[in-house]
Amino acid sequence: MTQEELTMIVPTSQGDIKIYIPGSRDVIVKMSGGADSSILMFLLAKYRQEYNPNINFKIVSTVATLKPYQFIFAKQVVEFIDNIYSLGDYEHHSNECFPVSGITDGPDENGVDRNADAYGRAIAEIAEKMQNNTAVQWMGITANPSVTDRSHSLNAGRDTARDKDVAVPVSQYYMEPDVFKSNRPFADKDKKVVAELYNKYNLTNTLFPLTRSCESFEFNETFSEHCGECWWCKERKWAFGKLA
Ligand SMILES: [Zn+2]
Repeated sequence: MTQEELTMIVPTSQGDIKIYIPGSRDVIVKMSGGADSSILMFLLAKYRQEYNPNINFKIVSTVATLKPYQFIFAKQVVEFIDNIYSLGDYEHHSNECFPVSGITDGPDENGVDRNADAYGRAIAEIAEKMQNNTAVQWMGITANPSVTDRSHSLNAGRDTARDKDVAVPVSQYYMEPDVFKSNRPFADKDKKVVAELYNKYNLTNTLFPLTRSCESFEFNETFSEHCGECWWCKERKWAFGKLA
């Protein structure tokens, strides 16, 4: 198979998404149970079925002391996808993450979660543990809505590391020609693209409601509903026009 034949191209209004995973190898997917990582998992499952059945999924999620929902939502999303495109003998791993000492879990009065880095490190840690010589990692991180776009009010309280000009690289750490250890196909695209993909694959009324973006623990301990007030809820509403 040529590289061209093994590349799945998904056109979007903000540029093509390309998935190319040659050979038999582990594909580590960071799953938060949010809308972004869930549609990425869907695309990777589609890729496995239609392009390369020899990839093995190792899905990783963190279980934070005050955010135990991540694994629960990720699990229901993975099971939903597995019924559409078989994930094969996949593994779903999780580890526990604790808030930094002295910093309360969840967003502060400005909506900023000062433990976000700790959670990021926890999931990176478990992904690293799964890593081997040929394994690749895929993450669904998206860019912030444009800071110069006046039609939204999402600038306050955003995670500035997701700004487009800061530019999280789309792929990183060369392994072999056109294969990179870290892959973030949405890093140069905002959440509107994610909404577009749900729409494209008719998942807006099925998979989308199974995902969770809300970070407001105070609102709802089980996260069975979205608060509609936290930054992540506002971004979700901005992109999809609805919360669930
Ligand atoms: Zn919320």
